[in-house]
Amino acid sequence: MSGEEAFAFVSEDELKEEICRVMKALYQRGLISALGGNVSARVPGAKEFWITPSGVFKGAVEPDDLVKLNLDGNIIDGYLRPSIEWPMHAAVYRVRPDVNAIVHAHNPFTLGLALAGVGIKPISVEAVMVLRKVEIVPFAFPGTDELAKLVEKYAQTGARALILQNHGILAMGSNLVEAEAVAETLEEVSIAQYVAMSLGREPPTIPERDVELYMKLYKIRQH
Ligand code: 13P
Ligand code: ZN
Repeated sequence: MSGEEAFAFVSEDELKEEICRVMKALYQRGLISALGGNVSARVPGAKEFWITPSGVFKGAVEPDDLVKLNLDGNIIDGYLRPSIEWPMHAAVYRVRPDVNAIVHAHNPFTLGLALAGVGIKPISVEAVMVLRKVEIVPFAFPGTDELAKLVEKYAQTGARALILQNHGILAMGSNLVEAEAVAETLEEVSIAQYVAMSLGREPPTIPERDVELYMKLYKIRQH
């Protein structure tokens, strides 16, 4: 096993512990609420994934509460009801082999900007390097196949973050820390943008040619 493979290997138990840690951190940061938000992850490349349960307090989810599903939503392991959002999580895993972890949160500032029709701008290095590409998904009711289909379509653009209009966000990563960082960065960037705009200023952005160079480097499709 090469050093890289050893680093990439993650056991199911580690994955489950890490999902619970991420849920706690998101709850403490106010990005998810008592009954809102969910997280999933898979062993890289697996056709099955672990997801948080539905309708339980989100700040204290334990590994034994998690549910393992295949990409058709069949329960493989676990005894609680899986998150109602499993169809949109499964949709992303189907079309994005690079994604092994997904955070669905209800970021208040990110949502507020989207409701006001303001997009996330490249106002900081993190906004460019961590978020890379953000898409806004039109409203569809939570837990529906309609939402899953929209998410599937927008995830195929290579975005790392989707804003679900009138609802929240979806952050994708090759592992849980990456998906967590995308969710947190979305909120950090939204707050900074909001502060500048509420002081009556249009925030300066990182020059377009630098953003383009970065996107080329990471082979990110702009549209
Ligand atoms: P679950 O409790 O079923 O995960 O639903 C929470 C949520 O945020 C729905 O969008
Ligand atoms: Zn939600």
